[in-house]
Amino acid sequence: MRIVFSERCLEYFEPGHPESPERILNIYVLLKKEGFKFIEAEPCCEEDLLMVHSEEHVKRIKSGEFYDPDTPSIPGIYDYARLAVGAAIKSMEISLEGEKAFSLMRPPGHHAGVNGRALGAPTLGFCYFNNIAVACRKALRNGEINKIAILDIDCHHGNGTQEIFFRDPQVLFISLHRYGGIYPGTGERSLENCLNYPFLHPVSDEEYIRVLGFALGEIEKFNPELIAISAGFDAHKCDPVCGLGLSAKSYAVIGRMISKLNRKVFIVLEGGYGGEVPQCVLNFLKGLEEG
Ligand SMILES: [Zn+2]
Repeated sequence: MRIVFSERCLEYFEPGHPESPERILNIYVLLKKEGFKFIEAEPCCEEDLLMVHSEEHVKRIKSGEFYDPDTPSIPGIYDYARLAVGAAIKSMEISLEGEKAFSLMRPPGHHAGVNGRALGAPTLGFCYFNNIAVACRKALRNGEINKIAILDIDCHHGNGTQEIFFRDPQVLFISLHRYGGIYPGTGERSLENCLNYPFLHPVSDEEYIRVLGFALGEIEKFNPELIAISAGFDAHKCDPVCGLGLSAKSYAVIGRMISKLNRKVFIVLEGGYGGEVPQCVLNFLKGLEEG
């Protein structure tokens, strides 16, 4: 397992915003202590962004001339966001060489759609560019692989990723998320290649794992060469932003279940805002290594 990271992602912040440098720093400190190996992230280029985003959206973020109550225009955000995309791409490349990789970066990405705000979403949801989508599109364009399954376990629906890969025959998108009175308000039902598993209320670990089992069965049927995971940890029961009732321990089980599929895997950090997140991440990565 390789951790793709750059300290530069800790440089920017918005006072009072839950998507803070501390959340990444705390994960970094724990993974470092546990002896994980790190590799430096590098920014992606504009052409990479244009593989999934419109020119208009890329220009908007680059200029800094936009207003979004959740997703502030911060000086340098275009470069920070490109660094997070570059880390996802690097993780994908490492996974194709046969080693699992985790992109430990911010900002997150799964709410960013083709033209920014995904259809039906009120805001960009802390995301500027869709890190995992660019990495997956790049893997498919390179022609090394033909099919990718994207599994999104963030507590919020991966609406941007769904929008980008809707009806793409090379991609199976699966999202397990909380639904009802929660951002972004989409993902109530499955649409063709986008399978949604909405939870109306917080659930037990057992219930979540049972549903995840169905979802992973769909991935086996699809038979992808590569699995990309949008790993948010805001489904933990103490998460201050969302929360779905999960314990920290459940993430070890989730990791092991994914590992048992025996495919190439890369992981991209999405949300997760509570104090338990570092332990959840550690459990998840250990589970992935064990299975
Ligand atoms: Zn989330």
